[in-house]
Amino acid sequence: MKSNYVLALLLLASLAFTACRTAPPRTELQRFEFAEPHMGTMFSITLFAPDATAAERAAKLAFTRVTELDRAMTDYDEESELMRLCAQPHGTPVRVSDDLFDILQISQHFAELTDGAFDITVGPYVQLWRRARRQHQLPAPEKIAAVRPNVGWRKVQLDAHRKTVTLLAPNMRLDLGGIAKGYAADKALAVLKQNAISHALVAASGDIAIGDAPPGQTGWRIGIGSIDAAGNSLTKTVLLHNAGVSTSGDTEQFVELGGARYSHIINPLTGWALTNRIGVTVIAKNATTTDGLETPLSVMGVEHGLRLVESQPGLAALFVTLDGGKKTLLESSRFKEIPSAK
Ligand code: AMP
Ligand code: MG
Repeated sequence: MKSNYVLALLLLASLAFTACRTAPPRTELQRFEFAEPHMGTMFSITLFAPDATAAERAAKLAFTRVTELDRAMTDYDEESELMRLCAQPHGTPVRVSDDLFDILQISQHFAELTDGAFDITVGPYVQLWRRARRQHQLPAPEKIAAVRPNVGWRKVQLDAHRKTVTLLAPNMRLDLGGIAKGYAADKALAVLKQNAISHALVAASGDIAIGDAPPGQTGWRIGIGSIDAAGNSLTKTVLLHNAGVSTSGDTEQFVELGGARYSHIINPLTGWALTNRIGVTVIAKNATTTDGLETPLSVMGVEHGLRLVESQPGLAALFVTLDGGKKTLLESSRFKEIPSAK
């Protein structure tokens, strides 16, 4: 860790999107945009609909779905379904909603896939690091060590038949912050589709669920990039449809202590927040996958992360690292194959 303390350069991973701005489509569908704050960030919906009434109705239903998911999954409300689950005595199977079971099952799959680099049981560490941010003081190593027995993805047991969750250790605290935004974006997109709106895109800041291409176009223009302190601009603009894309963003949530910049992403094995300057963009079939995987790919680092990306069909990633002021970009083979938009 300490060798990383010296890294001081700013890394910003940014993701921008616009609909393709070439010839207007020969269609009666019009473009609409909506935005609402949810899950501590801005959710925006861009969709094509026949009229404003249909557009507003569908967007409202999609945002309602996000609100419902946020209520169940937030760790900022002790009354959320997730927090009530954590309050049960350990060792007790607890029946949970289909949504919660689904996201827990996916999370456990990603934990296994990443060898524990993705771990929703990091809640006790996250609590310590949130306090560190507030108090501008590093967590005491003894405090991190003291909560270690309460962390570990294998201590979450799921029963798919009964839809129950059993937390095997005392004082466990689940945190879905690494995956919930992508999951909610996917579910919002699904609501739009159920309401006959398929040309749509839902963005939860850096996590984007992408539906059918804008009418008459081959995809949504997604700008993927990194900007350093010198203001270097976009790396690549791609055309995507029916996909997810996420960029890990420690640009808003970090704390600078003792000359090091601590990310909001934690290494579950140590309990320490990342200090290496790494940004990852993942493209996959949906935003649950991309949100769930960009978080652990940052923990795994370029070498291990790239190996995982190459081993999974349908995964593409761009890694941006800053080391001693030197910025390095590394694209996975499938990322290289994604054609740039004109
Ligand atoms: P993201 O912005 O998707 O990278 O998620 C970051 C959030 O996920 C943090 O604010 C924590 O709530 C949570 N988190 C941090 N480290 C991990 C980790 N290693 N695995 C899973 N979730 C994490
Ligand atoms: Mg994530």
